[in-house]
Amino acid sequence: MKSAPFVVHQPTNLKEAVELSRQYGEDAKIIAGGQTLVPMLAMRIATPAILIDVNEVKELNEIVEKHDSIEVGAAVSQARLEDHLVENESHPLLNSMIPWIAHRPIRNRGTVGGSIAHADPSAELVLALSILEGSVVLANHRQQRKVAAQDFFIGALQTDRQMDEILVKVIFPKLDKNVQYGFTEYGYRHGDFAVVSVAVVKDKNEWTFAYGGIDDTPQVFKEKLASTQDALAFVAHLANSANVREDPTASSGLRRHLMQSQSELLIKQLGAINDE
Ligand SMILES: Cc1cc2nc3c(=O)[nH]c(=O)nc-3n(C[C@H](O)[C@H](O)[C@H](O)COP(=O)(O)OP(=O)(O)OC[C@H]3O[C@@H](n4cnc5c(N)ncnc54)[C@H](O)[C@@H]3O)c2cc1C
Repeated sequence: MKSAPFVVHQPTNLKEAVELSRQYGEDAKIIAGGQTLVPMLAMRIATPAILIDVNEVKELNEIVEKHDSIEVGAAVSQARLEDHLVENESHPLLNSMIPWIAHRPIRNRGTVGGSIAHADPSAELVLALSILEGSVVLANHRQQRKVAAQDFFIGALQTDRQMDEILVKVIFPKLDKNVQYGFTEYGYRHGDFAVVSVAVVKDKNEWTFAYGGIDDTPQVFKEKLASTQDALAFVAHLANSANVREDPTASSGLRRHLMQSQSELLIKQLGAINDE
């Protein structure tokens, strides 16, 4: 199938981009890496008359290192962020998650903002932003606003972004040097979206567990736990009691099993580091 006809606009600054968004409203769609949107156009699931290509918008292409966060322009490709994190060693947790996104050719085109705006329940960057309690900055022709991750992701593929707003940047808080972390996921093939993904952050006896793929948005659980044994008991309880979806890709039983087994693996890895 071929896409319905559309006209592409390529603004080079944010002012132009938000003005186009105001002017065309519901007739327009923003395109970034196109990894999700182009197949939707080809299948005519989306039939916008106008595409606003944000790849050349300079304000959306910056990576800014702050002492307590890294601010990533929405049009920065996932591969560029990956290379930046390897070079700068500035965010080990994020660095450990990005290679799990699809394959490098997809990360070459797929953007950080495209992933966050699309809000797939299994997306690694959505999970990272949720466990880190990060935020996003959105702009329309009148104003910019900052929204916390927990308020931004409101459902599967649903966010708080309004029709005329463009995602400008994504703010990932940094973890202190002495905070421990881990990430793993299970998918059917390398590069597939995760069936279940798990991120863990341990700050002394404060543990945070975040799960992707189990519900419409990442689920984050915080608990003070005195020992590895307590942590193992806590994740067993979560795997039994959390709301976990069932769909044609996996039963809720498999997802509960993955929640528990993957969490146990990460807890034991952190325990082993403590014992060294
Ligand atoms: C085969 C395959 C495997 C994949 N596997 C994974 C995976 O394992 N994990 C994972 O996380 N992702 C995966 N992805 C998704 C991919 O990595 C991209 O994150 C995703 O396609 C969206 O990014 P994009 O830049 O391509 O966005 P686009 O396709 O251009 O846009 C996606 C949506 O976001 C909106 N949008 C984009 N940018 C903005 C902005 N600045 N402001 C407002 N709205 C915006 C668009 O209007 C559209 O609705 C996979 C994709 C493919 C094709």
